[in-house]
Amino acid sequence: MAPIRVAVVGMGKIAHDQHLPAIAGNPAFTLAATVSRSDSTVDGVPHFRTLQDLLDHGPDVDAVALCTPPQVRYDLARLALDKGLHVFLEKPPGATVAEVDALAAQAGARGVTLFASWHSRHAAGVAPAKAWLAGRRITGVNVIWREDVRVWHPGQDWIWQPGGLGVFDPGINALSIITHILPDPFFLTEAVLDVPENRAAPIAADLHFRDARGTPIHMDLDWRQTGPQSWDIAVETDGGTLQLSQGGAVLALPGETLRNADEEYPGLYARFAELIAQGQSDADARPLTLVADAFLRGTRRTTDAFFD
Ligand code: NAP
Repeated sequence: MAPIRVAVVGMGKIAHDQHLPAIAGNPAFTLAATVSRSDSTVDGVPHFRTLQDLLDHGPDVDAVALCTPPQVRYDLARLALDKGLHVFLEKPPGATVAEVDALAAQAGARGVTLFASWHSRHAAGVAPAKAWLAGRRITGVNVIWREDVRVWHPGQDWIWQPGGLGVFDPGINALSIITHILPDPFFLTEAVLDVPENRAAPIAADLHFRDARGTPIHMDLDWRQTGPQSWDIAVETDGGTLQLSQGGAVLALPGETLRNADEEYPGLYARFAELIAQGQSDADARPLTLVADAFLRGTRRTTDAFFD
């Protein structure tokens, strides 16, 4: 079968760090074009300033991978779906939940694939964690997701603007994991969001959730962490404690620790190819819904101004 001709749109950090290598490493795809307002190009690959320009003047493509900030993703996705292209959305899949639902409906009507990707779900420890938890009684969950925003998001103004999610940009990765591995749905009960006085999005958040049985789920998100970084999830069960660390890469179970190579983006592209082959979409917006609920129900506190 001919490879899927994919265009990468939004040639920033994640496009260069992960999408280009994952596409190059998967024979089901070929990089057909890049789109960015800047001159961030790939040797030998046609480059366009806008998606419309690519659609009007470029080579034929079958799919787009949208690696822009979430605030501009809906219009790009709508345009691509309208042209009958398959669409890979970086996380978070949109700036609002309703726009993701609208895209899913459009993809269904157009008969093409919409893939709302959650890279952390492909971290090495996540699938075995889900399997281990199945059938166990869960008594509590604690998530600590603390990182240094100056290291990971230097100069990214969009991340502090409305729709940029602030500390939920990494925090949603933890939510993507726990919505995937916990057997029961859960919902927010209270949240406190600390928002710098000069920014529109939180720098820290403390969140409490519970499931229908009342199981407590706590999340501590903070972007002011210096030194060692923390991307840890602990799940207490009747069979002992499961610990996912390093963003899901390392899984510790009672009596054993599993540590495998990072396969997040190769896993995402394998899934995208599978969805296209099967004529299906995967647009799970649950992590974004929980973030929206935190903004809806959380208490906002103003905190010190943040400067890069
Ligand atoms: P980034 O480095 O700021 O890159 C975003 C790119 O999108 C920019 O290079 C920019 O390229 C393009 N863009 C188009 N419209 C834009 C606009 N209105 N404002 C700003 N940029 C615009 O961001 P990133 O870190 O790659 O993140 C992009 C997405 O990937 C986010 O949703 C993020 O959550 C997700 N993600 C990031 C990481 C990570 O480690 N950084 C990991 C996983 C997922 P031009 O200016 O050339 O058009």
